[in-house]
Amino acid sequence: MFRAKLASFSNYSTPVFDCIVKADSNENLLDYPKDLETLIMDVLKKSIKNLCFYPEINAQPLKEELAKFYGLEKENFIIGNGSDQLIQLIIQAACEKDDFIFTLYPSFTMYKITAELFDVNHTFLDITQSWEIDIQEVIKKISQNDKIKVVFIDTPNNPTGIALEYEKIKLIAESFPERLIVIDNAYGEYCDIDYLDLALKNKNVLLLKTFSKIGFAGIRCGYAIANEKIIGNLHKVKPPYNVNALTQQIAITVLKNFNKLKDNINIIKSERLRMTRSLQEFYFILPSQANFISIVDEEADSIFDYLKEKKILVKKFNMGDKKLLRITLGKPNDNDIILENLINYKRGK
Ligand SMILES: *Cc1c(COP(=O)(O)O)cnc(C)c1O
Repeated sequence: MFRAKLASFSNYSTPVFDCIVKADSNENLLDYPKDLETLIMDVLKKSIKNLCFYPEINAQPLKEELAKFYGLEKENFIIGNGSDQLIQLIIQAACEKDDFIFTLYPSFTMYKITAELFDVNHTFLDITQSWEIDIQEVIKKISQNDKIKVVFIDTPNNPTGIALEYEKIKLIAESFPERLIVIDNAYGEYCDIDYLDLALKNKNVLLLKTFSKIGFAGIRCGYAIANEKIIGNLHKVKPPYNVNALTQQIAITVLKNFNKLKDNINIIKSERLRMTRSLQEFYFILPSQANFISIVDEEADSIFDYLKEKKILVKKFNMGDKKLLRITLGKPNDNDIILENLINYKRGK
């Protein structure tokens, strides 16, 4: 009854258990400022009487707000049901069955999972030895394969947290004007490098963004910024009404009041510094520009189990000879619990 490949196919999944500290999904778990919470409740209340209507088919009201926010045109935006949906639309719009996408390894797993689902091939560059990219190697690898239609680069990278230099991404974009370069900037709000210019200046670059990592993972809302031509083609494969009315209203409210979120972003950035400094003498910590820190450690499995025992949920990555634990930064108190346990682990307690 179903496609043969589904017999062995597994979609994205994530282990769950009862925990006191949830640090596995890179959500921003800080409380909303009271005034922002009130504004969101007001807008939800007003939206109730409109729930009988379909939302605007391409989420125009939200696009207009984004255009204001970025000083661009609404034609520069497409809205997705999470940026996950946009990853799917990008692959559907750009790849024939036997084409390839290119990613770094490690990077966000949905690129590969989505490609597989659509019978698109996947090739990658292993960066587990340095966690950095050798730009010549990237260019060589992409040049060798004409069928690579989309290059996905998450920066800051998930799961390392490392942000790739602007100049390197620029060079990749300029080297392959006929291929779509997707800069996945899911953690952009926590990062010092701003890549937006690359999407505005290059015909082949798209910047992917999301509300998920700044406190609104539950509304499922992501967006892409690019020129009209790229955006227009993505709209051709987008299901109608993909972003619900409540999500749009919340996202608009967040954009209008973005300054109220700044504290929550800055707290995470200062927690990142504090946690990194406190853990550095015990662990190898990658230099993160995201809302999480990652530890490279051969004992990752047993550290994970130790934390699990203490009801702390983090995310574990096994990549050949390298193992990594990705720890989402949360409320300072919760970070303290993680800190104490990670140090206790190394002290053999
Ligand atoms: C979390 C994440 C996403 C997914 O975002 P949604 O908008 O929640 O679908 C995309 N890319 C990267 C790199 C991520 O870490």
